[in-house]
Order: sequence, then C-alpha cells, then structure tokens
Amino acid sequence: MSDENAKCSIASRPISDFRLSIITLLGVSAFLGITPFAVMRYLQGNLLAGLVDTTILLGICSALVYAWVTGDTRRSGVVVASVACGGAVVVGIVVGEPGLFWLYPCLVTTFFLVNPRIAVALNIASVIALMVHGGAFRSDVQMWSFASTAFVVSACAYVFAHRNHDQRERLEHLATIDPLTGIKNRRSMDQELDLAAANAERTGLPYALVMLDIDHFKKINDEHGHGVGDGVLTDLLALLKQNTRKSDQLFRYGGEEFVLLLPGVDGIGLKAVMNNLQQVLRKYMKHPGGSVTASFGVALLEHGESVDSWLARADAALYEAKEAGRDRVVFADAQRTPELAAETA
Ligand code: GH3
Ligand code: MG
Ligand code: MG
Repeated sequence: MSDENAKCSIASRPISDFRLSIITLLGVSAFLGITPFAVMRYLQGNLLAGLVDTTILLGICSALVYAWVTGDTRRSGVVVASVACGGAVVVGIVVGEPGLFWLYPCLVTTFFLVNPRIAVALNIASVIALMVHGGAFRSDVQMWSFASTAFVVSACAYVFAHRNHDQRERLEHLATIDPLTGIKNRRSMDQELDLAAANAERTGLPYALVMLDIDHFKKINDEHGHGVGDGVLTDLLALLKQNTRKSDQLFRYGGEEFVLLLPGVDGIGLKAVMNNLQQVLRKYMKHPGGSVTASFGVALLEHGESVDSWLARADAALYEAKEAGRDRVVFADAQRTPELAAETA
C-alpha cells in the first residue's frame, strides 16, 4: 500500500467503522468536556473530584488509542462505555447533584458502543448504584424523577441504535451483494482479495484466483431471452458452490464473469480442482438450446505480488483461453510452474 493510500484509509476509517467513529467522538468530547472541570477541581483544591475526572479521561483516551491502533473496537467499546458510566456514577457520588447530568450522555452512547444487552445492564447498574447510594439526590421525588428520565433516555437511545443498526446492515447488504445471484459483488471482492494478499504475506498460505467467463453468453440471451440467461447464471453458481470448498469464495466480477478465490491450494491441487470444475460444467450446464461452456483464467498469487497484478494475470489467462477456442482452463505463467505446464483443453 502506498503512503498516500495508507493515509486515505486511516482518514476514512471512522466513516467506514461506525463504532470507531462513536469512540472517537466520545474520546474527543470527553477530552474537551472533562478537562476544564478536572483543572477547575484541582484549582479549587477538590483533589478527589479532580482525580476522578483524570481517571475517566485517561481511561477513555487509552481505549480510544487502543481502538485506533488495534482496530479492536468491540473491546474498546466495552471499556469506554464502562469507564464513562462508572465515572459518571462516581462523579455523581463525589460532587452530588451537578454530577448527575453527566450520566445522560453516557446512557445514550452505551447503545452505540456495546451490544444492547450489555448497554441495558450498564445503564440499569449505573442508575441503581446512584439510587442505592442516594447522596446525590436532594429528595425522593428528585431521585425518582432522575430514574424515570434516565429510563426514557435509555429507551429512546435503544430504539435509535436498533434502527440505525438495521439500516446499516441493509445498506451493507445492498452495497456488497449481487441481487440476481446473491453472491458477493466486485466491491466485496476487492476487500477480500486485499485480505487474502495480506494473509498470504503474513502466513505464507497459497492462494489461487480463478476468473471465469461463460462462452457465447450473448447468443444464449439473444436466442432464448434474458430469463433463460439469468437461469444459466444461477445454475452455474449453484454448481460452482456445490463443487468448491466452504472456505472458497465466489464473486460476481461483471455480467457473466465470476471470480473464485481459493485459499490453501498449490499447483497440483489447483489443477485437480480446475479439472473437476470443468468436467462438472461440461456435464451439467445446459440451456434449452444445448450445453453451456465456460473459459477459465487461473493465477496463483506470487510472493509480494499486488492484487492488481494478480487479477491482471488471471484476466490475461482468461483472454488466452478465449483466444485459444474457449471451453478451457489456462494457467497464468504456466511455464514457471511445471505442474501447471499443460493446458487443460
Ligand atoms: P465470449 O465467449 O467471448 O465471452 O462471448 P459472450 O457472448 O459471452 O460475451 P459478451 O461480453 O459479448 O456478452 C456478455 C453478455 O452478458 C452481454 C450481456 O447482455 C449479458 N449479461 C450481462 N449481465 C447479465 C445478466 O445479469 N443477465 C443476463 N441474462 N445477461 C447478462
Ligand atoms: Mg462470455
Ligand atoms: Mg464477458
């Protein structure tokens, strides 16, 4: 990844990672909102309150840094929510009534930081802790008003967070899944290939990429209609899914072009997989006018190779397969990989 790309991806992380954006927002707000109070309390000689504020600040800021460095927003979300709620309770107990107001923003943000069950538990525990201690309230009426408003705020936050979560999931589904075939689209493929290349670099696991294009698909559409063409696409995917491993991933690259990502296969295994796929398609892929064939371009990821180059080699191999007469498998750079040397025609 170039420096420029790295900068872009870091800058866009809070946008793509919702929980990280909430942790960041809370961290920055906590820093801006709590620091003046901490300073004021030290200046007033209220050392205990100053220490409480400093501990909350340090806790939230450490979790924020941890989230950015490790990307583990689940754990840091739990830490931020617990520190914020726990801190607000202690502030309420130490400074009394004015400290109670700090709990409201915490009750709202818990639902965006941790799963709903933990958020409900944290919110209830915080309110009960303040009620049991009781020192922050001037009267029972005030205490029950606080409990009721805390409940209303929590219930609203829960509904908003729930709806937000549902909508985000639906959008994510729409953005990553191809509607006709139900498999991942090219956008997801780019992410998965990046992950595969990074994993190969780290662990040395071999990866193969297969680019597949249905032969003379336009003719099928023209002669039998788009409905039949769509049926061919879904039949092909069903066959590919049945004849590949669970860990293999299938993507729709374009109209009638698909990409298959195979982790953990080396040259010999790859040749067997491709032979099998080709035989299965030849045997079972039919449409009303006869059989359906496909051409395949296959490339093993080379050490230190970029995703773009890997895709380009598979694409060039597919082009070769088409040029050589279609209905065949061509391995990229076969001359450098002896076990792949013979084309499967
Ligand atoms: P080749 O053997 O060289 O690959 O020829 P081809 O006819 O398969 O390739 P070409 O790229 O000329 O045509 C692809 C066709 O796929 C054109 C387009 O209308 C059709 N197509 C793309 N997406 C869909 C789809 O979702 N459903 C259907 N039915 N057809 C599609
Ligand atoms: Mg085609
Ligand atoms: Mg095509």
